[in-house]
Amino acid sequence: MVLLGDSAWCVSLFAGYGASLALGGAELLGNVLDANPADVPRALQRWEQLLRPVAERRRRQGRRRKGLFVASNSASLFARAQVLRLVNNRMVTGLMRRFLGLPEAFE
Ligand SMILES: Cc1cc2nc3c(=O)[nH]c(=O)nc-3n(C[C@H](O)[C@H](O)[C@H](O)COP(=O)(O)OP(=O)(O)OC[C@H]3O[C@@H](n4cnc5c(N)ncnc54)[C@H](O)[C@@H]3O)c2cc1C
Repeated sequence: MVLLGDSAWCVSLFAGYGASLALGGAELLGNVLDANPADVPRALQRWEQLLRPVAERRRRQGRRRKGLFVASNSASLFARAQVLRLVNNRMVTGLMRRFLGLPEAFE
């Protein structure tokens, strides 16, 4: 039995990337089992060796970025509100769309 996704490495909401890691981790598990059909412990060891650094890096990022989601004081709460207000501004969205090369209809 193996644990996958959040139940295994839960990078948390702050890091994001949890769904990608869950899917990528499952695919990688399939690949290592495919490459080591006669040696499951070796396949699992290889899986952990490849995946753990990625999950740990994301977790560290989450710890660093959590202040963006959960403001710790009124100044950062105010700053975050201004950023969200800007993101909802039509002119800013238009510029971002152009910068990212997204079509007009993309919402
Ligand atoms: C608000 C929010 C926003 C997010 N945004 C992003 C994002 O933008 N990008 C990203 O990559 N990730 C994001 N994530 C994280 C992502 O949703 C998770 O990392 C991902 O869903 C983990 O997948 P999982 O299959 O491991 O777990 P889950 O998707 O949680 O699936 C577990 C399933 O098991 C079921 N279950 C639980 N207990 C039992 C039981 N006893 N018996 C049977 N079934 C059970 C649950 O009902 C659930 O359906 C976000 C998470 C949250 C909460």
